[in-house]
Amino acid sequence: MVVQTAVNSRQDVEYLAERIITTLKRPFLVDQREVQLGVSIGIAISGLGQRTAGEIYKQADLALYTTKTLRRGSYQFFEPSMDDAFKQANEIRSDLLGAVARNELSLVFQPILRTMDLMVVGAEALARWLHPERGNVPPDRFIPIAEETGCIIEIGEWVLREACRVAVTWPEHISLSVNVSPKQISQPNFHDVVADILATAGLPADRLLLEITETIFFSSSTTIRRTLQELMEMGVRMVLDDFGTGYSSLSYLDSFEFQKIKIDRSFITKISDAKEPMPILEAIMGLSRGLALTVTAEGIETEAQLEYLKLIGCQEVQGYLLGRPMPEREFTKRISDPAKKLMPMEAPAKKFR
Ligand code: C2E
Ligand code: CA
Ligand code: CA
Repeated sequence: MVVQTAVNSRQDVEYLAERIITTLKRPFLVDQREVQLGVSIGIAISGLGQRTAGEIYKQADLALYTTKTLRRGSYQFFEPSMDDAFKQANEIRSDLLGAVARNELSLVFQPILRTMDLMVVGAEALARWLHPERGNVPPDRFIPIAEETGCIIEIGEWVLREACRVAVTWPEHISLSVNVSPKQISQPNFHDVVADILATAGLPADRLLLEITETIFFSSSTTIRRTLQELMEMGVRMVLDDFGTGYSSLSYLDSFEFQKIKIDRSFITKISDAKEPMPILEAIMGLSRGLALTVTAEGIETEAQLEYLKLIGCQEVQGYLLGRPMPEREFTKRISDPAKKLMPMEAPAKKFR
């Protein structure tokens, strides 16, 4: 905790916060190894002494909580709306506890298509939570909270079990992608859990792809690396999700055998209708060719984006243009409808929806 006095303006406080962040971010050596810290800061400014120290502390803490959930590694000033957001998050936290047992979770499946002929080659399972009072709570809201509280272990296992149970009914050439959080992979017995789920469902391991983000490499845990190795030995494939958003360090790609990378939607959105060259996307394609990785682009919403991705040789595509996340029944119908299996490139966008 830092108490700053003689503050004349908000900038004074910002300046101090920035200095703290920059200073603590500098790498240093521990036992010959380079270590880097990150720091998140929450700030509350006392008015004219009308508030107690306890209140100011609580406000700074709420601001810190917001920084950690929204923009780790930065700072944030307290705002009254944070109080409500905090209360809401607290409610979600406690309601999430029994959500699996109360059958409030469900899955939707978003088609993944081969760019060449737009044939469906897989689906990504995405979790949905229908809260009895709040209605649909989006995964961007509840997954981070589930991770923080540890519920993600139970939720993630349910997702995997349910998704495999569904996927076994699909034709063999259609694979299943499931998102897994770092917390799940950190469990020492995670590969046993996966093996058990696959066996129960009767789904061959090579039809399952696990989507992970590079955050799992932030801890240099040997358990995680061993688990990933064991999963791959079982035949499960690994996908590096949200590629391009974080550090996207080449060393992750080099030190670990991913089979696939998923280019984050933020890059796809930038593909303009004029199809101007996108050097980063082209570089990612070149890199993946060298490493023999399949590339999936996600978040395709326009014909122009699809065409550009085809042009640069991106093998797989996923996005609202080609199919929104849909309930199991709808997905099964889609893959069994021969007219929709092979969709011509020329077909107008509306037809895909
Ligand atoms: P993600 O893994 O990056 O999933 C892709 C998200 O982009 C999904 O949002 C999907 O509905 C959305 N999306 C797909 N195509 C388009 C498009 O063309 N345009 C736009 N605007 N969006 C598109 P969703 O389902 O809300 O999931 C959000 C995130 O929640 C996921 O991001 C994933 O990180 C997390 N998540 C969802 N289900 C699970 C789960 O079962 N386990 C874990 N650990 N995380 C999950
Ligand atoms: Ca994903
Ligand atoms: Ca993603």
